[in-house]
Order: sequence, then C-alpha cells, then structure tokens
Amino acid sequence: MENQKLFDSNRLKRSLKRKAKAGNSTVKLLCRPGFPLYYMLRNLGWLKGERWWTSLSSRARRVNAIRMLGQRASLFKEVKSWRDNLPAAPESLPCTSQDLTVPEYCNKCGLCCEVASGMDDFPFPAQLPAGWKEFFGNGLGKGHRFCPFLWEDNSASGGLCSIYQLRSRPCRLFGPDECEFFWNSSEPGELSDGKKILKVARWLVQHSNWRQISPRVIG
Ligand code: SF4
Repeated sequence: MENQKLFDSNRLKRSLKRKAKAGNSTVKLLCRPGFPLYYMLRNLGWLKGERWWTSLSSRARRVNAIRMLGQRASLFKEVKSWRDNLPAAPESLPCTSQDLTVPEYCNKCGLCCEVASGMDDFPFPAQLPAGWKEFFGNGLGKGHRFCPFLWEDNSASGGLCSIYQLRSRPCRLFGPDECEFFWNSSEPGELSDGKKILKVARWLVQHSNWRQISPRVIG
C-alpha cells in the first residue's frame, strides 16, 4: 500500500496560530507538540453525523466539546509526564525489539486507533499507571471517538501511540488487511478535508474558554 499521509498537522497548527489572538490558551494547548489536534477535530467532525450530538442545543454542543477537550488535555498531561520519566534505554522495559518495531505497511494514519475503547489485554499491565487500563477499556467518556493514548507525530504528520512499547495485545494483532479496509472506506478522506478541519478548529477555538477547563491541565 502506498504510504499516503492523511493530514499535515504542522500546517494546521501554523494556520491556527496565525489566526488566533496572541496568547490564546486554547490554541496553545491544541498546538502543543504531540497533542492529537487532528484527531480531536476529526472526532468533533464525526459527531456531526451522530443524532445524540445534532439534537443538542448549540450551547450544549459547546459545553460537551469543552468537556472533551479538558478530558483529553488532562490525560495528555499525565501521559506526557509519564513518558518524560521513562528510562531512556528501551531494553530496561520488559519488551522485545519486536514490540518496538512498526510494521512496514503502517503509514501512521491512526485510523486503527480511532476507536475509543478496546480489549484491555496488556502484556505488561504492571508497567502502566493505575487507571490507564480502564481508560483504554472504556474510553474517555461520551463523545470520544479515538483511543486515549493516540497522539500525533508532528514531524511525520501522522499518529503516534504514546504507549507503543506497552500497548495492548489487540493493537499488536492489527494486520495489513484491516489496515487496507480502513483506507478504502470513505471516512478517512471525507473527515480529513483540510477546509472542513480548519472550520472545526476555528469553531473550537472561538468557543473554548480555557477558564472553563480545570487549571490543573495547564502546564
Ligand atoms: S494503545 Fe496505541 S496502538 Fe493501541 S489503539 Fe491506542 S494509540 Fe493505537
């Protein structure tokens, strides 16, 4: 399969920074290296096709979007701090080189991780902080459409599993056929249309008041 890219997150981040007022804290959060901006926006775009979301008032949609952003930001901060304290040498973790190798057919689109919850069958559960299995198994809450541990690799404009070496067994079993199936569905292209994504991004920035999100997630 051709190694296509779904999105250019750096371009999107530059555009958001250019249009937002200097010091806008929502933009600062969305543009942090690794923050799954594109997936968050695709998530919101996806919800537009769901009845429970479209039947909400516009105020309720804004409140829900801010709640979801706060939940993402909170876990992002927790995972970042955990990653910052990981031992530098991979061999000090209980995993093999196979656990660290990305299969050749993977183009890091992250579509396989755009599933909010999965079977929490982790080979090294003791290495993960308490509560993370639960996040993986049940997702981050209503409206969240992608894995709590999916980040962005800004240098490659693709997805990044933030717990790759410790990921669940079902994540390791995902093969080229399933991968191709996702690529051939209409959703990746439709939901990644640059103009649509930018429109959702501006809506989010315009309506997110960072003060409505717990200050604990800033930092
Ligand atoms: S744990 Fe990693 S590989 Fe598994 S679904 Fe989440 S981001 Fe993807």
